[in-house]
Amino acid sequence: MQRSLVLCGSLIGIAIAALALGTQADAGTRRPPVVRPPLSATDSQEIALGAALAKQFDSTRGIQPTPESDRIQAYLQGIADSLGRYTKRKLPWTIHFDPHPGIKSGFALPGGHIVIWGGILSYMGTEDQAAAVIAHEIEHIDNGQVSRRIDSLVTNEHRDVTNASQWRWGEFGASYGPVLEYRCDSLGAEIAVKAGYSPYAYKTMMEAFIALGKVYAPNAPPAKELTDRIDQIQREIAEEHWDSRIKTRRLRLPGSGG
Ligand SMILES: [Zn+2]
Repeated sequence: MQRSLVLCGSLIGIAIAALALGTQADAGTRRPPVVRPPLSATDSQEIALGAALAKQFDSTRGIQPTPESDRIQAYLQGIADSLGRYTKRKLPWTIHFDPHPGIKSGFALPGGHIVIWGGILSYMGTEDQAAAVIAHEIEHIDNGQVSRRIDSLVTNEHRDVTNASQWRWGEFGASYGPVLEYRCDSLGAEIAVKAGYSPYAYKTMMEAFIALGKVYAPNAPPAKELTDRIDQIQREIAEEHWDSRIKTRRLRLPGSGG
């Protein structure tokens, strides 16, 4: 599970096959709308389930907030709030910060709850990169992927969305597969740009992973997933005429001298 979590939130994990499919999906306005059955959970049920799973997450991981972790969480929350103004679903986008330094990712729980781990913050130099990661996780929810995972568990395992004890937070940490991971980059970049952030942050975030990987394995080529996703965001920047959006904001993590 750990590996999947890292794959999702660290923006790694796109396979070649996904790229063409993702592009098709993104051009989907020309295709007839997909008729889906009603979702298993209403928004308020999904929000309540996510809140219960966030509590379960804190409890099982032994998270004890400190004044410092609270300040970092509040900073990340401010970024989520600015992105949340541009989402389709009106949910209480809520950041849960776990300071664990070894997990370089985040993931989305139901109903707008998003976990960000401390490890990924050390890869960031700009607030725009934090926005890129948070926007990616928001899109797992805003794009209906988390809701469909709920549906799948209701259908296949007869879960009750109103009984949180039947659910585990880790069920929402696994990757959604290359097509949807790519889609979350693409849609995430859209809301990040609307909120005034630079779309190049997706590129520099992946370049940071490549650069650090090179320190420990100087002769190994960078993961193809990373270079492919850099190619994708560059293509999106060109197609959307975002080329001039290069201005970034400094990462102002509380207590770091910023
Ligand atoms: Zn993801």
